[in-house]
Amino acid sequence: MKHRRAHPYIRQVLEIVKKRNHSEPIFIQAVQEVLGTLGPLLEEHPEIESQNLLERLCEPERQLIFRVPWKDDVGNVRVNRGFRTEFSSVLGPYKGGLRFHPAVNMGVMKFLGFEQTFKNSLTGLSIGGGKGGADFDPEGKSDDEVMRFCQSFMSELFRHLGPRRDVPAGDMGVGAREIGYLFGQYKRLTNQYEMGVMTGKGIGWGGSLARKEATGFGVVYFANSMLETNGLRLDGARCIVSGAGNVALYTIRKLQQLGAQVVACSDITGTVVQESGIDFDRLRAVSEDERKHVDTYAGLVHGVEFREGRKVWEVPCDYAFPCATQNELDEDDAKKLVSNGVKLVCEGANMPCTPEALAVFREADIIVGPAKAANAGGVAVSALEMQQNAGLERWTFQEVDEQLQTIMKSIFNTCVHCADKYATPTDYIAGANIGGFLRVAQAMLSFGVV
Ligand code: NDP
Repeated sequence: MKHRRAHPYIRQVLEIVKKRNHSEPIFIQAVQEVLGTLGPLLEEHPEIESQNLLERLCEPERQLIFRVPWKDDVGNVRVNRGFRTEFSSVLGPYKGGLRFHPAVNMGVMKFLGFEQTFKNSLTGLSIGGGKGGADFDPEGKSDDEVMRFCQSFMSELFRHLGPRRDVPAGDMGVGAREIGYLFGQYKRLTNQYEMGVMTGKGIGWGGSLARKEATGFGVVYFANSMLETNGLRLDGARCIVSGAGNVALYTIRKLQQLGAQVVACSDITGTVVQESGIDFDRLRAVSEDERKHVDTYAGLVHGVEFREGRKVWEVPCDYAFPCATQNELDEDDAKKLVSNGVKLVCEGANMPCTPEALAVFREADIIVGPAKAANAGGVAVSALEMQQNAGLERWTFQEVDEQLQTIMKSIFNTCVHCADKYATPTDYIAGANIGGFLRVAQAMLSFGVV
């Protein structure tokens, strides 16, 4: 493995980023991870330093913070904090999901917006990077409470959105129900039916077939490319997936369709282990339709072991798919996976592995699929949804899925090409960072200092 030198310019920018964002360690972690791999570019492209591209890229173009007041079912007035980070618009309108989760803060938004910028670049499509959300916890809220919250949230955010300006979608805690309420309020406030202002919409009102499945399916298409390139197979392999939400569900679905055995998944309540394979239809109904947890699934399905409060990483597997949340897989988890013989880890969630976990995988020569490449299928199909909206078209599931596969293959090829040229052939982390960065950097140089 080639030695990664910390170039003086990279060290200097990292110092500035740490100072400027000292209360946001999660953002600093994301920046460190990317900048740490860009060293080999600096000699070939001196303009990166002379135009101070890295410092410019690490500062979001615009950040919004706003109050979201709403009334709960018993008449109490509640207040949450809303956010939108408009990180980079050099490749197109800001594009990235909304997350409703109690742990949301500006640092989380900035880390996600930063990652999104490179991810969107890797898709090759015309979309910039953004992310938003609120510290609102949908857990235990009634439909009416969620609706009132979404309406209040959109009453502030709508003035910053537009199909050519900023286009949100879903993320953790924001699914079809929330997108419906948000879009309904946007339409009411603007008096326009601007379908392209939001993606992840319902199929009957401007949504794209296969958007719901796209992130998870894309993760597996990417993993499959890595496996084939390294002489391995999905068929018959033993897999584990963390999470039981949107990304996890459709990762499980596609793994099973391609012949893998998914023996465990998890959520905040704990882990379910099912040697015969997870029953996708039952799990989907529990998670998606009933908004319940894997402990409920374990109570409904025969032959399932429920490990309360435990992580999934202790379950032996060939391939592991972290699909829940950031920093969910730490150094100890990584060591456990390695000692149990894992051969590949493919990130479905954004930044799920800590830097220490990644170091363990690097040391053990485990193949790692980085999130910004592997989970880019969701935003790619969001861009296809915008394309369908703009042309007043509706494509079939198969057409969208075929385009998704083509895009995931192209992302993989970009990662391989950049890894090969600037790092080592299987360093897909460096490949994704460099591939995503180069396209953004070229556009920034064309635009001058703006
Ligand atoms: P969901 O809210 O649909 O699902 C999240 C799942 O993760 C839930 O099962 C949740 O459990 C579980 N979870 C959350 N925190 C923890 C934790 N600390 N420990 C164990 N389980 C946990 O979100 P998504 O599936 O949409 O998103 C998952 C990840 O994928 C996020 O990182 C997101 O940014 C990323 N992503 C999502 C995309 C999309 O299209 N949706 C696109 C690209 C990336 P519980 O319900 O019990 O809280």
